[in-house]
Amino acid sequence: MLDALNIQDYSKVVRPEVIDQLHQLAAPLAGAKVVHVNSTKLGGGVAEILDRLIPLKRSLNINASWETIGGDPDFFVCTKAFHNGLQGNRVDIPQHLLNHFESINEENAEKLRSTLEDADYVFIHDPQPAPLLKLCPNRKGKWVWRCHIDVSRPHRPVWKYLKRFLHDYDASIYSLAAFAQPLGHPQFLVPPSIDPLSEKNIELSKSDVRDTAKKFGFDLNRPIISQISRFDRFKDPVGVIRAYKLVKEYLPVQLVLAGGGATDDPEGAAVLEEVKELAGDDPDLHILLLPPDAHRTINAIQRCSDVVLQKSVREGFGLTVTEALWKKKPVIGGETGGITLQVVNHHTGFLVNTPEGAAFRIRYLLSRPKERKTMGKKGFEFVRDHFLLTRHLRDYLTILVSLNHKDSSKISLG
Ligand code: UDP
Repeated sequence: MLDALNIQDYSKVVRPEVIDQLHQLAAPLAGAKVVHVNSTKLGGGVAEILDRLIPLKRSLNINASWETIGGDPDFFVCTKAFHNGLQGNRVDIPQHLLNHFESINEENAEKLRSTLEDADYVFIHDPQPAPLLKLCPNRKGKWVWRCHIDVSRPHRPVWKYLKRFLHDYDASIYSLAAFAQPLGHPQFLVPPSIDPLSEKNIELSKSDVRDTAKKFGFDLNRPIISQISRFDRFKDPVGVIRAYKLVKEYLPVQLVLAGGGATDDPEGAAVLEEVKELAGDDPDLHILLLPPDAHRTINAIQRCSDVVLQKSVREGFGLTVTEALWKKKPVIGGETGGITLQVVNHHTGFLVNTPEGAAFRIRYLLSRPKERKTMGKKGFEFVRDHFLLTRHLRDYLTILVSLNHKDSSKISLG
């Protein structure tokens, strides 16, 4: 169940004018019915965001709700292939799977049609539920396609197939400019965000962090590096282990690779097996398979790390990077997608392209505690200024207001 959130609580973290602005933007939207639709309640960044964004919208008197489409294993095999194809892999999706994708969407449309047709605004997240628009012919509201993945260089046949479902949306949203695709409607750029007051990100006591380290057998007297991610090839867990092994030749470092699955990601188990095989029986290499609600554990792992890695080779945004920066940890991230928005080379961390590059930067940071501290502070401030939930909410509200005033050059908020 979604927590109830109170917008006033955020005044502990952001300036008071930020809260005033949100009230002002939300006032003309009071009572508006806003529905978000994605394909999983558990696992991955989209669920993480919706879990907090929707209660916060509700706290501003917007009638926001969150629907999830259901599907069977074949449906998710197909949508994972979309995901891989949109992020540039050459995938060949058989026609019968595409037909299945469409018929599962039809089944979902049967259940959701009245809710969606009646809504004032519908946000459809990622490709999985994209066909719903065509299946709700009597829609009365504005529909927005919210793309969370790196579609800058999609495998063309996949994009061509999906585009047919996207043209009729009133607008689309991307996390960064490089991802935007011409679809014949207005496009908005909205980077994601973290909630500083969630279990994942709240301040923890030293003893909480120590207890987690003890529970998993980490030695707090030796350096710890970590990567928290779904076991997905785009996150390059294998590259992380290679980097760790290179560093291990010089420093008594420990690696924590922690992750769980997402209910809409069928490839996780196979990737986890590959990772375990490469890891062997090294007692300093901790591979943790976490349950989907392990927010406090992840918070503590990030806090007990000296350096956090996110060595992705493709990344829509990388909330794990934001989470680590918020905890004042320098991040070594793959030079790709949304990581480049957050990791500012030499300031909040380092961008790398290879395991060797990552190993070089890990050694550099582990031997410079002062620099780690300075970078950590910069990372925290950078997130506070750009990537908190309140900024994200402001962007969404601005889009809603602007969709209502499509032809106006000036909008008065009263
Ligand atoms: N996450 C989690 N448990 C895990 C792995 C990841 O709760 O086992 C969270 C992580 O803390 C982050 C989100 O899932 O909040 C992942 O978002 P990100 O944008 O980094 O990647 P995505 O999985 O959406 O590709």
